Amino acid sequence: MENKKGLLIILSGPSGVGKGTLRKEIVKDNTLNLGYSISMTTRPPREGEKDGVDYYFVSEDEFLRDIEDGNFLEHAKFVGHYYGTPSYKVEEMRNKGINVILEIEINGAKQVMKKVKDDGVISFFLMPPNFEALENRIRNRRSEPEEVIQERLNKGLKEMTMTGSYDHVIINDDIQRAAEEIKSIISNKLAMMK
Ligand code: 5GP
Repeated sequence: MENKKGLLIILSGPSGVGKGTLRKEIVKDNTLNLGYSISMTTRPPREGEKDGVDYYFVSEDEFLRDIEDGNFLEHAKFVGHYYGTPSYKVEEMRNKGINVILEIEINGAKQVMKKVKDDGVISFFLMPPNFEALENRIRNRRSEPEEVIQERLNKGLKEMTMTGSYDHVIINDDIQRAAEEIKSIISNKLAMMK
């Protein structure tokens, strides 16, 4: 029997809102057949991050070549570094029936919504319960200089006014609760597409 094409699930929102933690929680649910698209970035790895697991860490030259070759579904520059979703893997997974999660910032999310027009796309914007929560998360990473932290916070403030084009806005007040909300929306969408 031929597989039904998997969903393309956009998980976006400001840096520090907890997209990664939520994504990891959501993919634990084996009933939803979820996969994660590993992005490419020119940002240096943080402590503990692994190449090919958290990101594909590449040089700027390599990234620019991939842009020229049209290898990205979307890409964006965020606080001085490039980030992008390689299209090949996403298509491969979707064609196998895997529901693929993209954890990306909002410029990339906009590109995907514009480019991919099939009805298997579903987009979530994650909001922090308040600005302090966002600031605490960004500062607690302790991996970046103050000006980068400020830039991430300013970007986050701007991003939080741009939620209009998303299918769902989710408040990340509690990881378990937010994860359940997202999983139940995905589950309903899958039931509708049967
Ligand atoms: P970080 O440096 O904190 O890992 O990521 C910075 C921002 O880039 C986060 O909002 C993260 O979700 C986003 N991001 C990660 N991968 C991609 C990607 O492939 N494309 C885009 N547009 N954003 C990404």
